[in-house]
Parts: sequence; C-alpha cells; structure tokens
Amino acid sequence: MHVEGFTFSDFMTNTYLCYNGGEAVIVDASCETEAERRKVLNVIDTHDLTVQHLLLTHAHVDHIFGCRFFEEHFDMTFTAHEAAVPFIERADEQAAAFGVQVEPPSVPTTFLAEGDTVSFGGVTLEVLHTPGHSPDSISFVHRDSEQALTGDVLFQNSIGRTQGLPETSREQLMSSITDTLMPLGDEMRIYPGHGPDTTIGREREQNPFVQEALGESGGTDRSRSMGSGR
Ligand SMILES: [Zn+2]
Ligand SMILES: [Zn+2]
Repeated sequence: MHVEGFTFSDFMTNTYLCYNGGEAVIVDASCETEAERRKVLNVIDTHDLTVQHLLLTHAHVDHIFGCRFFEEHFDMTFTAHEAAVPFIERADEQAAAFGVQVEPPSVPTTFLAEGDTVSFGGVTLEVLHTPGHSPDSISFVHRDSEQALTGDVLFQNSIGRTQGLPETSREQLMSSITDTLMPLGDEMRIYPGHGPDTTIGREREQNPFVQEALGESGGTDRSRSMGSGR
C-alpha cells in the first residue's frame, strides 16, 4: 500500500492518499483551499486512481475542510465512527470557534467501529477505536505493510490534545496509545494527523508521554530502579 501525505491549512493537518492496484482511499480531508485540493487531485490523476472511500480519523474541523469537495467530486463512500455525527452536525460551530469557515460535509450514513475493515485495491485496512482526543477517533491499520493512519492520537514526541476540546479524556487517550497502538509492534509505521510519520518503536523509546505512561502502567519497574540506590 502506497501512502502519500499532504499537510494543509493553518492547522498543518495531514491528509493521506492511500492507494494500491489502481484504487485509493482518502484519509481525512484537511485541504482548505482550491490549490490544496488540486494537489490531491493531481496525484490521483497522475496514478489514474479510482477513489473508493473517504475515511475520517475523527471529525475535528481541521480534518474535514475538504470533505464536501471530495464528496461532490468522487463517486465513493464517506464513512467515520458514529460518534463523529454530532461533530459533523456542528461543523459550523467548530469552525467559528477557531475563526475559520467550513463547507459542512454531509452526515455519513454508514459507520466504522472497532474490528471493522475497509477494502480497496486488494488492501484491507483494519479499524481500531482509539478514543481520548475525541470520542470518534479511529485508526486504520494495514498489517501486511506495517502502516497505520492514526489521526490525532500519537505524534512524533507528542500525543493528541485533551485540553480545550469537547469530550476528551486523557485517561482514554493514554489507554488508546498503550493498550491499542503499542501492541501493533515496534516496526509499525504511524502516519499521524499532524507532523511527520514515525514508528511505534521510535515513540516507545523517545516519546516522553509514552515513556511516562508505560512507566506508570508497570511497563518498566521504575519505582524499584529509582529506589535501588537508597
Ligand atoms: Zn483533532
Ligand atoms: Zn487535528
């Protein structure tokens, strides 16, 4: 599976085009301007791809700017987690809160939940529910090529925000990272909603938030090693 990333808008939010065997899915639609949308279309045209699905990792406003445009441009399904519905219904409110404007997407009628799969071009993506940054956060995992699109859950050296946003939970977020993403294995490449791609192994070793969480959950016996010199 090929993964092409684009970073769009003042929010610096990533859109991904995943393709294989002439078919594609778009994961998140952060393209706000005509020029940004054209960049995605150019890659689709260059590789002569048929877009099968528009998928959302979650429906925060910076991830949905281009949804309506793609919906009108392609004959494809548009799906998200069911908990995305109230966020999409309040797209205008979300935009106003950040002083931006959005063309509200249509409200999806088919939903993705933990354990579901999405298929295109001979590829099957597995859906994992990874809430905490938002209740509708889901991740798309392609185990064969060890690549995962994880939205705003785990970033290079950082984690998804849980302050100043509705319906967040720091506890759920850390559980999504340590109990759901970490078991994907150190080789798994992570394509996040913001910033560069990384791997589970890199974040296990270098991400201070992950290290703290693993320490607290007993992943390393920190209390004993800290006390050993006294
Ligand atoms: Zn977000
Ligand atoms: Zn975001």
